[in-house]
Amino acid sequence: MTQPSDSIASLRASFDSGKTRPQAWRRGQLLRLRAMVEENESAINDALHADLGKSGFEARMTEIGTVLSEISHTLSHLNTWMRPQRISTPLSNQPGHSRVIHEPLGVVLIMAPWNYPVNLVLTPLIGAIAAGNCAALKPSEVSARTSALLARLIPAYLDTEAFAVFEGGPEVSTALLEQRFDHIFFTGSEAIGKIVMTAAAKHLTPVTLELGGKSPCIIHDDSDLALAARRVAWGKFLNAGQTCIAPDYILVQETVADAFVDRLKASIRDFFGDDPKLSPDYPRLINERHFDRVRELISGGDIAVGGETDRSVKYIAPTVLTGVDPEATVMREEIFGPVLPIVTYRSIDEAIGFITSRPKPLALYLFAKSGEIRDQVIERTSSGGACINDVVMHLAVPELPFGGVGASGMGAYHGRTSFDTFSHARSVLTKSEHFDVPLRYPPYSKRKLGWLKWFQ
Ligand code: NAD
Repeated sequence: MTQPSDSIASLRASFDSGKTRPQAWRRGQLLRLRAMVEENESAINDALHADLGKSGFEARMTEIGTVLSEISHTLSHLNTWMRPQRISTPLSNQPGHSRVIHEPLGVVLIMAPWNYPVNLVLTPLIGAIAAGNCAALKPSEVSARTSALLARLIPAYLDTEAFAVFEGGPEVSTALLEQRFDHIFFTGSEAIGKIVMTAAAKHLTPVTLELGGKSPCIIHDDSDLALAARRVAWGKFLNAGQTCIAPDYILVQETVADAFVDRLKASIRDFFGDDPKLSPDYPRLINERHFDRVRELISGGDIAVGGETDRSVKYIAPTVLTGVDPEATVMREEIFGPVLPIVTYRSIDEAIGFITSRPKPLALYLFAKSGEIRDQVIERTSSGGACINDVVMHLAVPELPFGGVGASGMGAYHGRTSFDTFSHARSVLTKSEHFDVPLRYPPYSKRKLGWLKWFQ
């Protein structure tokens, strides 16, 4: 296998050649990426099914369709995004004009997790291409079939002088992280995020960290409980709960808790039937390690729905827990599986206090009709993103920046924000040679000081 150092050096040589800068090259690569996804949809579906038991519908909705929409959105706006921004120039710098140009960073590293193994490699890549960069891509070895497919398809469709895929486990990531990159875009866990940031610090490489955490979902007593239950059940059990912005736990107002759990139960039955194991729409856990970890979490409360497991096929039923101790592991660690603990609150102050006493989450969800409650929750909490009266769907608004805050990450992407993440905003002032105000030059005088104060 080629050493990462040789490969990165050759990506750097391509970048230095200037080939990635023209808009035509960027558009060409985005169109090739679109062709790659469209022409290989069934191979992608097969890989996702082999890795995660993902249905074709889910694959289209959350991976293939998401990538295609991001490409279309980028192609429609790239011309505008690349345009230098005119900035007004103060009198002290006249005659002159100021602008911000968006230049590519260089060679970037994109490291992805296994849960949306196509989307989370390709969506950042779209931003990197749009901004004119070369990229090294590291899919997760855990979603092995998808990783192998991407390693085969990407060189077949994209410019091999500008993009390289590295397959393998931590040893490959470690070797890559020893190289100097101009940006590292990492999606994954907090623990590995720290390793990535430490390695990046050695080269003063800026990082985007798209991490996880425990995203709360508040159900206020004035909300439409049936609608809330349906949307929560969808967002939670999508990809069998292995979604970074899945509602991790529910904070439901005490007075409506039983009614909400009843409706959740009904939604789960509507979606997956009496035995979700038989539903072709319900995925599996990625591997035995995660299966064991998630199964263990079920002991943190009383099973109100589900609870059935089968290790031989990595199946855990959509499970709802009540009577949960807020100090139990299921309420301390990111669940990242199909287990939904329900915690009750009496007043909105109590719910807000519960959230703010914990690390800042990646997403926060609230179901409430009252405008006052909505305002209070948004103003008094912090999270990467938020969604009122739905879950997960804020991700599908192309111009909403997607990213975490505090423990859930730093930096953001999607739409224009992706372009900015992978660009350097370079300030350029151009002065005229025709006129030179002598004020700033020594020898200084009281009169000059008077003029200086007037200018400032
Ligand atoms: P992970 O951190 O284990 O792995 C992510 C990447 O890091 C993979 O490419 C992996 O190969 C690499 N890696 C693993 N061990 C490493 C090491 N020792 N040194 C260097 N690199 C290493 O994460 P995961 O289990 O694949 O994904 C689950 C996590 O990702 C969850 O915490 C989830 O919330 C988070 N996530 C976040 C987002 C987001 O957009 N914010 C999206 C999906 C998943």
